[in-house]
Amino acid sequence: MDSLRAQRIADKVEKFVRDVVIPYEKDSRCGDHGPADELVTELRDKARAAGVLTPHILKDGDHLNQQETATVLIKTGLSPLGPIACNTAAPDEGNMYLLGKVANDEQKKRFMDPLVNGSARSAFFMTEPAAEGGAGSDPTMMKTTAIADGDYWVINGRKAFITGAQGATIGIVMANSADGACMFLVDLPDPAIKIERIMDTIDTSMPGGHAVVLLDNLRVHKSQLLGHSGDGFKLAQVRLSPARLSHCMRWLGAATRANEIATAYACKREAFGKLIIDHEGVGFMLADNLIDLEQSRQMIYWCASVLDQGSLGTVESSMAKVAVSEALYRVADRCVQIMGGTGVSRDTVVEMIFREIRAFRIYDGPTEVHKWSLAKKIKRDFLKRQQ
Ligand SMILES: Cc1cc2nc3c(=O)[nH]c(=O)nc-3n(C[C@H](O)[C@H](O)[C@H](O)COP(=O)(O)OP(=O)(O)OC[C@H]3O[C@@H](n4cnc5c(N)ncnc54)[C@H](O)[C@@H]3O)c2cc1C
Repeated sequence: MDSLRAQRIADKVEKFVRDVVIPYEKDSRCGDHGPADELVTELRDKARAAGVLTPHILKDGDHLNQQETATVLIKTGLSPLGPIACNTAAPDEGNMYLLGKVANDEQKKRFMDPLVNGSARSAFFMTEPAAEGGAGSDPTMMKTTAIADGDYWVINGRKAFITGAQGATIGIVMANSADGACMFLVDLPDPAIKIERIMDTIDTSMPGGHAVVLLDNLRVHKSQLLGHSGDGFKLAQVRLSPARLSHCMRWLGAATRANEIATAYACKREAFGKLIIDHEGVGFMLADNLIDLEQSRQMIYWCASVLDQGSLGTVESSMAKVAVSEALYRVADRCVQIMGGTGVSRDTVVEMIFREIRAFRIYDGPTEVHKWSLAKKIKRDFLKRQQ
């Protein structure tokens, strides 16, 4: 399951996150819309010095396989700031993966290299405002348009929930051309990309927060189109499963940490004449946590092994995303409960981890959408067997 090289990297990452990153969790530069960019740079400088920046991409540009990536990313997740410090956070990690697979050499040099060396942040622009009937769970509802104009594309539309758009210098924008969905690489900031507002959301860990963005006659040179016109959804498939799975990896790390804190609380706090872990209600919650954490781990490595065999893993990553996000949410919720009032206070990171994992049940496909697509597959397979 784990390669020796991945374990070595993971050990270094864990030490860095526990010794260096965790003390920053109470830094005043961590705001409602994520850590300030000045803090991101400071953390990344420390990660670079410790040799753990972008640890899943090796010096020769080789990407760890998915099982190895799991071993490393679970450790970066031990603090909500860990992935940001180590440059394994969404959306950059998924964007680097996508560009590594589908960008041409010139696009890689201009748009991927600054991400890999941790000097830039990026954003992925797909979702559109629900109130305007745009793309959400159903990306085929996309209203943003791309119209060819000589050597350029002209893009118009409004996007929502765009993580990190504020402060990012690289964007991947999805829009519909006459051929279908397309992906464009863009430089940020750009006067034609107007950040209308940063949304106030339940989660607070991601730099730049989540933006509503107007694309107002954005002109993009044809060399910045990824793949061909109409390839957008095909390219999105490349990013889909690994990006879903890496969220599972990072949040497994976070839930593991919340469980460590709740365990310590339960083993030290007394009520009604004994330690609360010795009350069956609490002991059973910790036992359930252990089971959910281990099941999540197994699910992640199983799905990673499917991807490592060259499969797109669309079905498996749907299953893993549902199982892991729901299980980790149960874990985080129990941790809050075990810790009583302290659990809902900001005295520990448990409260934040609970909020973050709540949002994870929605992005990269809400649970119900994954189950709906699995049900469609079950029916398809059944009907095929009947033929
Ligand atoms: C924290 C966060 C960060 C995000 N970051 C980004 C980003 O960087 N870039 C980006 O493009 N997007 C991003 N998103 C958007 C995210 O991808 C969407 O929220 C998600 O796809 C759901 O779309 P929606 O919010 O429009 O929900 P809707 O499409 O309105 O769906 C609402 C609910 O309807 C139900 N539902 C929908 N379809 C079905 C179905 N077929 N069967 C059963 N139930 C169904 C589900 O319960 C779903 O939760 C982010 C979202 C969050 C919360």
